[in-house]
Amino acid sequence: MKKLKERLANLLESETPSLFLDRDGVINIKKELDYVRNWDEFRFIPGVIEALRFLSEIFKRIIIVTNQRGVGRGFMTEDDLKDIHDKMLKIFAENSVRVDKVYSCTCDPEKDPDCYCRKPSPRMAYLAKDDFPEIEFANSVMVGDSPKDVEFGKKLGMVTVLLGNNKEPEADYIFSDLFEFAEYVKLVLGRKG
Ligand SMILES: [Mg+2]
Repeated sequence: MKKLKERLANLLESETPSLFLDRDGVINIKKELDYVRNWDEFRFIPGVIEALRFLSEIFKRIIIVTNQRGVGRGFMTEDDLKDIHDKMLKIFAENSVRVDKVYSCTCDPEKDPDCYCRKPSPRMAYLAKDDFPEIEFANSVMVGDSPKDVEFGKKLGMVTVLLGNNKEPEADYIFSDLFEFAEYVKLVLGRKG
């Protein structure tokens, strides 16, 4: 545990600490067995904006990587998804939150066997690295609420954080929500907040 904390501390103090975030269940409330299909259905998880405002100061790059198979399955369109993300990013900007880019994997692997962007595939992280070459995966944290997110982060050598009650023994850290993760980052950095 001490080693892990040390690794996180070193990562946070590196040149370009980067944060990869899953969306549903991390930023907004996940709909069980359904998709968030439009902005009216999008609800921020309490404390997320405050957490991200702090994390924006610490992480040089913040990237959202989200599987949105609902598009591939025809429950929503690419435009619906873009509208959700445009409005989400606008609220972030108004609240001093910096998210550098959102990557979505919209294919449905059942219809599209060549779909290779879907997490746990690391594809979206490589796209982010193309856009932001300064990102170093070894100095990155992946935060998600599903074992797929942990697997994604592990493949890339990131520190992995699992949110929620899902007890995934493979994750480096488990917290209840993004706010709790941000509080831990403060602790590691020795800041009082
Ligand atoms: Mg999720």
